[in-house]
Amino acid sequence: MSFKDLQLNKPILKAVAESGYDSPTLVQEQTIPLVLAGKDVIASAQTGTGKTAAFALPILQLLFDKQDSVKKGKKIRALVISPTRELAIQIAQNFKTYSAHTNLETMVIFGGASIEPQIDLLKKGVDIVIATPGRLLDLHKQDQINLDYIETLVLDEADLMLDMGFIDDVTKIERLCPKEKQTLLFSATMPFKVEQLASTILKSPERVEVTPTSSAANNVSQVLYYVPKRNKIELCLHLLRTTIKGNILIFRRTKYGVDKLEQTLIKNGFKVESFHGDKTQSDRQSALNKFKHGEANILIATDVAARGIDIDELDAVVNFDMPNVPETYVHRIGRTGRAEHFGSSYSFCSADEKAYIKTIQQLINTQIPVEDDHPYPLDPHAKPIIHTSKKTGSKHKKGRKGQGSKSKKKRWY
Ligand code: AMP
Repeated sequence: MSFKDLQLNKPILKAVAESGYDSPTLVQEQTIPLVLAGKDVIASAQTGTGKTAAFALPILQLLFDKQDSVKKGKKIRALVISPTRELAIQIAQNFKTYSAHTNLETMVIFGGASIEPQIDLLKKGVDIVIATPGRLLDLHKQDQINLDYIETLVLDEADLMLDMGFIDDVTKIERLCPKEKQTLLFSATMPFKVEQLASTILKSPERVEVTPTSSAANNVSQVLYYVPKRNKIELCLHLLRTTIKGNILIFRRTKYGVDKLEQTLIKNGFKVESFHGDKTQSDRQSALNKFKHGEANILIATDVAARGIDIDELDAVVNFDMPNVPETYVHRIGRTGRAEHFGSSYSFCSADEKAYIKTIQQLINTQIPVEDDHPYPLDPHAKPIIHTSKKTGSKHKKGRKGQGSKSKKKRWY
């Protein structure tokens, strides 16, 4: 199928061609006709499937076809809600790219940055707003944004939005928009609470499902290292020196873990940036830019912080900590091996994480190949670990957990 077959009009086809896209992805093929037909859609698709264009292209087309003839006083007619600032910025960039040959205006609204420039832009008038929930509601409270003319509302990464506690904000925003509108909901996973949200705000939605989360990308190689927890950092350094090359994304479970690993890698001469929920907006943006522009080739992140970030040409993903939710494993390794690239994934499993491997392997229906040949082995079959009683003098035996997780009960991502 080609983009022309999807009945997209010329200015949009031109922008799509300039983006270098030859043919629509699966989610685009299935979603675009439904959106053009004015249907509500609930789509299960993760980042990397081309889901942004799946809603952006038809929304632009609908807005383009139905523009007010007088070009004064633009009204916001499409609203996309995104859980994170980075994702909001990316979505807005996509809208801008795809609308390059139209006079449709897009703006992005997010917290953690000065509100005045956003108010100024709103005053000038825009057609499409991409927003994070909190700042959008702030602007509405201040009477700086009018949602009365919204024709299409998109909730992107709905599962993450709910995980991050935005459920009330999202329902509030939905109620601020007109009753008669088209609503599109995108979510990487479809837990019950997402279905519940969908059932309250979508009207007879059409379903789109692509890449069931149980199928690990087949152009990503997978290797599993069993390693004692205390040796994970050494194993990571060893592999970064000998095996793992290129642009690397390392996942850690907690922001404390992210910071700790970052410090160690920097001390060892690696060019590293990191990304988690406690970083300021400008820190996050600068980390991402440095990674994208090659000033750093290693990015360490938590799952939540890394969700939705679009990084092309990722060579490897490292699961420094194994995820306890098996789908997360699939999402993580799916960050590499995108499009026609070949990617590699490396997973470090300590004794306490073995149960996770079992559920992951059940989900992906594959045994992840184990690499035993490394300097810090752990018996993969749960037999007692026999170490010749050399005192390795690990710096952090017990109580390592204390510093990070005990003191702060707030966000761990
Ligand atoms: P997304 O899932 O929206 O984050 O998109 C992932 C990446 O795929 C982005 O870098 C897009 O620019 C790219 N992309 C989207 N649609 C296509 C397409 N039809 N062909 C090739 N690349 C695409």
